[in-house]
Amino acid sequence: MILPWQHETWRQSLDGPPFPQSLLVSGARGAGMNEFARALVAAILCMTPDDDGQACGQCDECRWSSAGTHPDQLSVGDLYPRADEEDPDAREVSPDRGDGEGVLKIERIREATTFLSVAPNRNHAKVVVISPADRLTLAASNALLKVLEEPPARCHLILVTAVPSRLPLTVRSRCVQVRLPVPSMTDARDWLAQQDIEAPELALAQTGNAPLAARDLPPEYWTARQRLLPLLAHSSRAGNLGACLAAATDIDHPMLVRLVQTWCCDLAYVKLGDGRSRFHPDLESEARECARRVGTAALFGLASRLQTSRRWLDHPMNPKLANEEILLAYHAMYSEI
Ligand SMILES: [Zn+2]
Repeated sequence: MILPWQHETWRQSLDGPPFPQSLLVSGARGAGMNEFARALVAAILCMTPDDDGQACGQCDECRWSSAGTHPDQLSVGDLYPRADEEDPDAREVSPDRGDGEGVLKIERIREATTFLSVAPNRNHAKVVVISPADRLTLAASNALLKVLEEPPARCHLILVTAVPSRLPLTVRSRCVQVRLPVPSMTDARDWLAQQDIEAPELALAQTGNAPLAARDLPPEYWTARQRLLPLLAHSSRAGNLGACLAAATDIDHPMLVRLVQTWCCDLAYVKLGDGRSRFHPDLESEARECARRVGTAALFGLASRLQTSRRWLDHPMNPKLANEEILLAYHAMYSEI
């Protein structure tokens, strides 16, 4: 089912059924790309779509499609990871995208081509979703291009990406492009409230106003935030560093990096921006106090170090030591004025 803020895009961009054979769906991470792609797959396979062309949600095709077991649908890549996971775009990828972790290789496109070469099992169409499409290697993109140039009859390809500019122009130009909107704050907040999220505005702030990411923040995130943020906010207290290190022993390294990074972003916003906290608005006065005690150069030095840490989140290291290094650097920042 598509999300409330996507209805207008659906009506304006998709003139179906029949739907275009090659579609490129793009949008902001955490704002519902996966949901839109799934709804599109279901709509293409559904036997009794509604007047808007959306899936009925009741027929066998819809049930199998939503369970991911429909024999005429194939997923290449795993859609985007859970919206609350670290942004893969921040991680190391080899420059030519020829190899490395997380890329979609040519074998996956060959698998899709074989899948599409056989007539539909159930009804009128076959669908392949490629996501994140920007993770295709160059060889895979070239193989995909051949399919896009002459898509087999009754076959649909849906490419999903947050960064369409990373796809070759030749691929993009052969697809009908659907750009999904970012929801308004009101839409996002109302939708989160309907999902029984306790503090929708605070959850949205944590994720840069990405509602799906806000919904998917795990309980461990909130626990870690509750333990660590008050300590980061009161760094001048005696014994605070020791308390921070103790609190961090049970916090996953990527989560700790994220918390320290968003907190430092808030310090920069209140110090140099409009004076408002973006990520942790409930701790704005504490952020102002911290920002007053820290030098701009030291703040940017730590921000740069944290950004580098994010690129290496996947690589094996000693997470406990890595957490300690970051917290030591955070506290050292206050003595560098
Ligand atoms: Zn249906």
